[in-house]
Amino acid sequence: MSDSKVRFADRIIDGKAFAEGLRERIGAAVSGIEAAHGLAPSLAVVLVGDDPASQIYVRNKGRAAEAAGIAAADHRLDAAISQEELLTLVASLNNDAMVHGILVQLPLPDQIDPAAVIDAIDPAKDVDGFHVVNVGRLASGQMSGPNAAMVPCTPLGCRMLLEDRLGDLTGLEAVVLGRSNIVGKPMAQLLTQANCTVTVAHSKTRDLPDVCRRADILVAAVGRPQMVQGDWIKPGAVVIDVGINRVPAPTGDDPDKMRLVGDVDFDAAIAVAGAITPVPGGVGPMTIACLLANTVTAACRQNGIDTPAW
Ligand code: NDP
Repeated sequence: MSDSKVRFADRIIDGKAFAEGLRERIGAAVSGIEAAHGLAPSLAVVLVGDDPASQIYVRNKGRAAEAAGIAAADHRLDAAISQEELLTLVASLNNDAMVHGILVQLPLPDQIDPAAVIDAIDPAKDVDGFHVVNVGRLASGQMSGPNAAMVPCTPLGCRMLLEDRLGDLTGLEAVVLGRSNIVGKPMAQLLTQANCTVTVAHSKTRDLPDVCRRADILVAAVGRPQMVQGDWIKPGAVVIDVGINRVPAPTGDDPDKMRLVGDVDFDAAIAVAGAITPVPGGVGPMTIACLLANTVTAACRQNGIDTPAW
C-alpha cells in the first residue's frame, strides 16, 4: 500500500467494500422475491467474438450474478455473425418471459451497428440503460413507476458512493469530466436530479483545471491516465475516479508488467481531497453490482412487484 493510502486512509471511498455490501443486499432481495413471488430474476449476456477483455467482463458478470442468486445465461456468438442473426437472438430474448435483463457486451464487430442492436432490446430489459427510451426517461426525470428509466450502471454506482459519503447532495457544485453516453452524460443527469449544480467538461473545455477547481464533487471519466492533478482539486472535494487505464509498470523481474491507474493522479489528489475513490477498488466493483441491481429491478417491474430500494 502506498504511503498516501496509509496516511489518508479515512479519505478513501472503498467501492469494493460498498459493492460487496450491495451484492449481499441484492442476494437477500433475490431470496425474498423468490420466496414471496416464486420469481427468479435472470440475466442474458450476449458476447460476440472472442475479444479477451470482453470475455473476462462477461465471465465476471456471470459469476457475480450467480453469487447473488440471479440466473445468468451466456450467449456466445461467432465474430462473423451477421447483424440480422444477432437481432434475431435479441428478439427471442425480448419475447422470453423468463429473461428479465439483456446485456449485449460492447464493442461489437465492425459489420454490426451497435445502436441498431441496443435499440432492438426491449427497454424494460435494457439493464445497461443504453436504449434511447431509457436515455430519454432519465433525461426527463422519469425515475419511478413501471416505466421508469433503467439507469446506466457506472453512473448509478457513482451516485450511490457519493450519497453514502455525503448524504444529501443538494446545492453542491459538481463537475463531470467527460461527456460519453455511458458515463459522463448520465452522470450529469443523476447529479442534476440530486440538486447539484452541474458542469460537464470535455476535450474542448477551456481552462479545465480552473473548471475542476470549482467542484465540490469531481467525477473524472476521460480515459486519460492520471490527467487530473492535485492542484485541479478544491480542498475537501469528493473525487470519483471512473477511469480505468493500463500503464506500463516494469519491474526487474517483469519488464512488461502493467498496472491500472485512474484518470486522477491519486497520490497528489488524496492529499487535497476530502474523499476519493481508488483505482482499482473504487467505481469498477460498483458497476457490476449495479448491473445486478438493475436486473432485479427489471424483474420486479416486469412482474408488478415493488422494486427494492438499494
Ligand atoms: P469515452 O472515450 O467514451 O469518453 C471520454 C470523454 O472524455 C469524452 O467526452 C472526451 O471529450 C473527454 N476527454 C478525452 N480527453 C480529454 C481531455 N484531454 N480533456 C478533457 N476531456 C477529455 O470514455 P468513457 O466515458 O467510456 O470512459 C471513460 C473512462 O472510464 C475510461 O478510462 C474507461 O475505461 C472508464 N470506464 C470505467 C468504468 C468502470 O466500471 N469503472 C465503466 C466505463 C468506463 P470529447 O467528448 O470532447 O471527445
